[in-house]
Amino acid sequence: MAQGVLVITEQIEGAFRKVTYEALSEGKQTAAALKCGTAAVVLGHGITDIAEQLGTYGPDTVWVADDPALKEYTVDAYANVVSDLVRREDPAVILIGATTQGRELAARLSARLEAPLAMDCVALRVDEGNVTATRPMYGGKVLADLALKGNPCIIAVRPNAMAIRKSEGAGTVEKIDVNVGDAAIRFVEKQLEAEKTDLTEADIIVSGGRGMGGSDFSILEALAEVLGAAVGASRSAVDEGWRPHSDQVGQTGKVVSPNLYIACGISGAIQHLAGMSSSKVIVAINKDEDAPIFAKADYGIVGDLFEVVPAITEAVKKLKAQI
Ligand SMILES: Cc1cc2nc3c(=O)[nH]c(=O)nc-3n(C[C@H](O)[C@H](O)[C@H](O)COP(=O)(O)OP(=O)(O)OC[C@H]3O[C@@H](n4cnc5c(N)ncnc54)[C@H](O)[C@@H]3O)c2cc1C
Repeated sequence: MAQGVLVITEQIEGAFRKVTYEALSEGKQTAAALKCGTAAVVLGHGITDIAEQLGTYGPDTVWVADDPALKEYTVDAYANVVSDLVRREDPAVILIGATTQGRELAARLSARLEAPLAMDCVALRVDEGNVTATRPMYGGKVLADLALKGNPCIIAVRPNAMAIRKSEGAGTVEKIDVNVGDAAIRFVEKQLEAEKTDLTEADIIVSGGRGMGGSDFSILEALAEVLGAAVGASRSAVDEGWRPHSDQVGQTGKVVSPNLYIACGISGAIQHLAGMSSSKVIVAINKDEDAPIFAKADYGIVGDLFEVVPAITEAVKKLKAQI
């Protein structure tokens, strides 16, 4: 695939993360514009069977690095294996999800391969054979177009920002020889938060801030349940110990781009907006009509969240009962 597009996939316990399909769909389109092929690489152990699931998204080749040493992600081992593959296959563009794992791996590969890296991109286009990546900057206040000059160039795509498109052409699945090399990092233990949708992949997020007044988020959880949403929080709510840090949205929390973001009792500080302003539709519920969040919201409700949120939950329940 010399000078093609390589997508580094991410799977957890044998299930691909949604951003993998987003990156692959974008990779396929980019490859079409560059008139080259698309490949994907899957790393892990016991994952050869799942590699075929990628076929519907159109890669020409799926490289499988299946080895006990890759069962759990460590940046050393994964970077060693991917950089060997990159040196051999010589892709022009590498796409990876800007997840916690993807950000770390992308940065390591960028240093190792002396390749330019654009982090947290929300769009890609090809201009006269050159890839331009768009990413939010200054806490989401501007969108910057970055022209990447280098070979390969690495682009980490923000989860939920790009469309998933199925594509023709089931590719071949090929195993690669794995040499994890020297690894300074050793995997010790992993603790998964059971049954919780990752905020970065949620279609809908209901977030609570200091206006919740305490750790009882049950009215938000009830709304989230009827909407099939995940629950997020502002830093104030996290600092108060009302929610775990993994729920925090913002500059020092998670960057999210759901289809719908409902901010309840959140004032709209710049550091919070940095994490959610690329949401497709923003609804704000706040009792202060001058709260800055209303400047960013598509729909605003001035009112007491303890009255408004249960009313919305009931209305959604009624609507769902009619379907
Ligand atoms: C370096 C740095 C990094 C940061 N990173 C983050 C980050 O990642 N994420 C983040 O969120 N913040 C972050 N912050 C903090 C940020 O500046 C704000 O302090 C924080 O976002 C405020 O949280 P809040 O909106 O929940 O609280 P507040 O600003 O106190 O707002 C509470 C809102 O609730 C409303 N309210 C109160 N009661 C009700 C009610 N009954 N019904 C309806 N509305 C009600 C009030 O009108 C008010 O607007 C960071 C700050 C710094 C300096």
